[in-house]
Amino acid sequence: MLKEKNKKDIIRLSYKYRIYPTLEIEQKLIKTMQSEAKVYNTLLDYITEKKKQGIKVTQLDTQKLLKNMKEKHEVYSKTLQMINNILWYNIHALSELKKNGKKVGKLRHKKIFRIIWYNQSGFKLQGNKLYLSKIGEIKVLLHRPIQGRIKGVIIKRSKTNKWYAIFQVEQEKQQLEKIGKVASVDLGIEKFATTSDGIAIENPKLFDKIEKRIKLLQRRLSRKKKGSRNYEKARVKLAKAYEKLENTLNDYIHKITTWLVKNYDVIVVEKLNMLKMIHDSNSKLRKHILYSKFSTFLHHLFYKAERAGRKVVEVNPAYTSQTCSRCGYRVKLSLSDRIFRCPNCGLVIDRDYNASLNILRNGVGTAPLPVEGKPLLYVTFYEVVYSKFPQRSRKSSSRGGDAPS
Ligand SMILES: [Zn+2]
Repeated sequence: MLKEKNKKDIIRLSYKYRIYPTLEIEQKLIKTMQSEAKVYNTLLDYITEKKKQGIKVTQLDTQKLLKNMKEKHEVYSKTLQMINNILWYNIHALSELKKNGKKVGKLRHKKIFRIIWYNQSGFKLQGNKLYLSKIGEIKVLLHRPIQGRIKGVIIKRSKTNKWYAIFQVEQEKQQLEKIGKVASVDLGIEKFATTSDGIAIENPKLFDKIEKRIKLLQRRLSRKKKGSRNYEKARVKLAKAYEKLENTLNDYIHKITTWLVKNYDVIVVEKLNMLKMIHDSNSKLRKHILYSKFSTFLHHLFYKAERAGRKVVEVNPAYTSQTCSRCGYRVKLSLSDRIFRCPNCGLVIDRDYNASLNILRNGVGTAPLPVEGKPLLYVTFYEVVYSKFPQRSRKSSSRGGDAPS
């Protein structure tokens, strides 16, 4: 018998794939999602009613009610259990908000769910076919192979009405060999990322283009009458633009984080700081996109590092841009200042490169001295897309980035 693996050696991941249900299966999926909403609403009403009578209801009580509903709705039993879990999760989340003094309303009825959750059982993946209990067979586009043990699958309908399967997987960690290098990464608007060994990764113009289109579509949508056919058309167009941005970004971020984890033992990053971003940008949409971009980046970096036995260190982002990385003098910078000039020691270097050295020092206690007059190594959008990252050779690089001995 296999020995139970130590929990520490296991990492949980999800893999998302597009799926293509036939019309008949699609109808079944939608019907299930409607049934889920009905079950959710019934349980919610039950709890509200009992509460009025002064009777306390627990998660186990509502779970018992599911037995009868299972036959009526023809939904897989474990899927209904997940609906009960989601309901109670929402109840707890709401009461947490109340505790923190937030004004909150009541939980509302749902018309339809956008997910169907198969946990532990009721599904089977064979080749590129996914079998779902009570539903049937669906073709999956497996654009990359699944590694590890599949523990569950979530069927999702996107806002543009595309179908996805999200497989939840447990994987054993795959420790990478030590490289002997540390680096920090400064995330930004002008450059997507700048490392402390002087590599700058482009922030693709493509993102700006899609962003502009989203703004335009938002304006158009706001002029349409809600519920009209034109409104629906405009809504789907907007959702598609968002989806495109998200997909392109995701792919981009995957490539960068994979490269970082492969090439450095320790990676220092700034904690995601909304305040800094509010300061740095004036449009709400911009902020939203930046936030999702950076949080996706950190999310990928953390799980990939964990899986590979690498370390990610988070540091406080305060003053990393304004401090001279050579002498520690603090300078007031505006966002348009792309070059850092120190009036104290005379250092003149790229603003983000300067910040990355401060981030590195804050994270591991030491950083190489800044190198003046040596251009950053630029990595363009297409180089990222094709994973063609430059190597700062360890000998010729006086920028450092080598692990402190
Ligand atoms: Zn200085």
